[in-house]
Amino acid sequence: MTTNQDLFTAAQNLMPGGVNSPVRAFGSVGGVPVSMVAGNGPYLTDAEGKEYVDLVGSWGPALLGHSHPAVLEAVRAAVDKGLGFGTSHPAEAQLAQLVRSRVPGAEMIRMVSTGTEATMTAIRLARGATGKNLAVKFAGCYHGHSDGLLAAAGSGVATLGLPGSAGVTQAQASETIVIEYNDRSALQTVFAEHGEDIAAVITEATPANMGVVPPEAGFNQLIRSLTEAHGALMIFDEVMTGFRITEAGYWGASGREEGWEPDLFTFGKVIGGGLPTAAVAGRREIMEQLAPTGPVYHAGTLSGNPVAMAAGVATLQHATAEVYQHIDAKAQVVTDALAAALSDAGVDHTIQKVGNLFSVAFGTSQSGVHNYSQAQAQETFRYGPFFHTMLEAGVYLPPSVFEAWFLSAAHDDAAVERILSALPAAARAAAEA
Ligand code: PMP
Repeated sequence: MTTNQDLFTAAQNLMPGGVNSPVRAFGSVGGVPVSMVAGNGPYLTDAEGKEYVDLVGSWGPALLGHSHPAVLEAVRAAVDKGLGFGTSHPAEAQLAQLVRSRVPGAEMIRMVSTGTEATMTAIRLARGATGKNLAVKFAGCYHGHSDGLLAAAGSGVATLGLPGSAGVTQAQASETIVIEYNDRSALQTVFAEHGEDIAAVITEATPANMGVVPPEAGFNQLIRSLTEAHGALMIFDEVMTGFRITEAGYWGASGREEGWEPDLFTFGKVIGGGLPTAAVAGRREIMEQLAPTGPVYHAGTLSGNPVAMAAGVATLQHATAEVYQHIDAKAQVVTDALAAALSDAGVDHTIQKVGNLFSVAFGTSQSGVHNYSQAQAQETFRYGPFFHTMLEAGVYLPPSVFEAWFLSAAHDDAAVERILSALPAAARAAAEA
């Protein structure tokens, strides 16, 4: 039998770190990354034939679970008609219409292939539309890997403890201002000092790349009112949260707080149903600044690919209110059990949760986790033993404490029970770390 170790050894010889995306490496938890060969419902199967309950969900897209029959059927039907035409085709508008029907502010939509491309394009669009240069981002938020957005980024950049990335020029870095999340006075100061030059503030609707860090009440509205007052755009990055978090409707995190809209949104993950699709969306007059109607250039050979559109359409069509109620309820069950197991084992922690997105932070009950500094100050060393005990028991968690856990509509009682029964031993391992 080919083992995970065999595959990893071969991969390391061929690909940097043996992976195509650093978050897949077991850099911070140690050990051999698991090679998966199949996904079905809430389960993944590795190359050695071992089955896991999956709490990564392809890093977000698998809202309905793996290999959902309707999504596979839609993809097969699309494949039968051709893999891509390099022209317009009907499914693009179908997906765009589905997005717009659930996100009031998404008046126009441009499909792209990855979340990185979406945020990069949104920033360029904001600069083009405002004629200003500076972008403001929050430490610990991750907006993909375009040059200007890598400063103090979350996700894999946080896992590896990097301040940013080599290869980003000083000029690019100097056009991004980074401030602490949830820091109202820092935001006010930045606008007081640079208001005339700020093209956009980009923020995760609810940060989930430094672990989950809920916005404090009124923080998103403050971004809205300051950007509006200074002629800057507010970019709401919902690559992770869009069509997943449904606090007040099922259109993503922006619906949580009534009475305002960002100028631009970025979506990804769920809207592609597991295939490479993401989107920039927003107000008509801003979106029309994009080529060919406007002077801001964006293009893509694979943008709006018909097979990806089919997966996205089928996924959103099946993302009903019941689906979200199910995932939210299961998230409550899992977080309650996680908190109980950690408390029983005497592990100081906070559960960081917004809707069905959650993560755990160790040694943080005194401070809470409201920003990246607090997230980084946690007892990260407890996560490796916790993770490996869960893995051994057949539960696949994100291999970093800075990543959110993803449940799906396919996580039924049996799958959840497997998670719950694995938690006490994992909590004890965290206690002994
Ligand atoms: N924005 C956010 C909020 C994300 O979580 C991610 C990916 N995790 C991205 C952007 C980048 O998306 P992609 O990996 O598809 O480039």
